[in-house]
Amino acid sequence: MLDWHGSGMSVMEMSHRSQRFGEILEKAMDGIRSLMHLPEDRSILFLPGGATLQFTLIPMNLMSGTRRAEYLVTGSWGEKAAKEASCYGDIAIINAAKDGKYTSVPDQDELEFDPLADYVHYTSNETIDGVEFSYDLDAAGIPVVCDASSNILSRPFDAEKYALIYAGAQKNIGPSGVTVVVIRNDLLDRIPNGLPPLFDYRNIQEHGSMPNTPNTWAIYMIGLVCDWLKEQGGVEAIAQINERKAKKLYAAIDSSDGFYRGYAAPSARSRMNVTFHLNDEALEERFCNEAEQAGLNGLRGHRTFGGIRASIYNAFPEEGVDALIEFMKEFAARNG
Ligand SMILES: *Cc1c(COP(=O)(O)O)cnc(C)c1O
Repeated sequence: MLDWHGSGMSVMEMSHRSQRFGEILEKAMDGIRSLMHLPEDRSILFLPGGATLQFTLIPMNLMSGTRRAEYLVTGSWGEKAAKEASCYGDIAIINAAKDGKYTSVPDQDELEFDPLADYVHYTSNETIDGVEFSYDLDAAGIPVVCDASSNILSRPFDAEKYALIYAGAQKNIGPSGVTVVVIRNDLLDRIPNGLPPLFDYRNIQEHGSMPNTPNTWAIYMIGLVCDWLKEQGGVEAIAQINERKAKKLYAAIDSSDGFYRGYAAPSARSRMNVTFHLNDEALEERFCNEAEQAGLNGLRGHRTFGGIRASIYNAFPEEGVDALIEFMKEFAARNG
């Protein structure tokens, strides 16, 4: 990082137009392409603005036909994506909440889509609620757009099924400050003319993700994370580890005689964000405080949601999950 290949320059010092940085960018793209087994006709874009900016760019770029899109909403992020898209066109929301709560995911055969919609959007893992799809959505030929911010690279995706997949890097791909967009090239031809250039996927693709200076440091780090993931055996291998981590944590919840109560329906349980509750908020607060003292941080549920959330992304070690399970057993024994 501080002396790129003997050049005497750090990655952050060199020009983004230099051949050296070009190689760094290529490496990051190749890493994602090979880990995700992307078909040839997909372009990889690196964008600023987080996954949240894509809530706006997707309708701007893809609502070029009937200006109708369908949003399958299974949690908090999907809700937000739908709301922001409704500034641009007609959004039909397929809301999967039951009793006002997002705890499950509909089966593929329960779903029907508007055949004239410009696209269908969904969130493969709802980070806040802890609800995950276990299948790749099929929308009968309508382009499928997926926010995979919190489970990209955690398990295999069938890339062929997606017209556009996007993810803020900071959960499973690299540092914050860059968002990965994988787009099927034929969609680029449908983008309306006259969009502001930095919001136009076609312009960004034509300029190799560099219509202006990109987040060079974050892109460099993505290349290194891809190397690390390949050393682990790739997405297929990390998926097995993730499965094992989640399974034992849910088992600890289920075997607590109701002291801990899992939030998501078992069929929709997230392997990345394990959400659960204790009997009352005061006890949850005590749980979080004592966990912190035991070195287990970041367990407080999202501020809008409450409860407990253990985020166990790719980088989170299995020993950490084991330590949490030990703590949970001990805490339940003392407070049950
Ligand atoms: C974290 C997250 C976001 C928001 O990402 P930003 O990069 O902060 O904009 C959006 N969608 C999902 C599913 C997320 O997990």
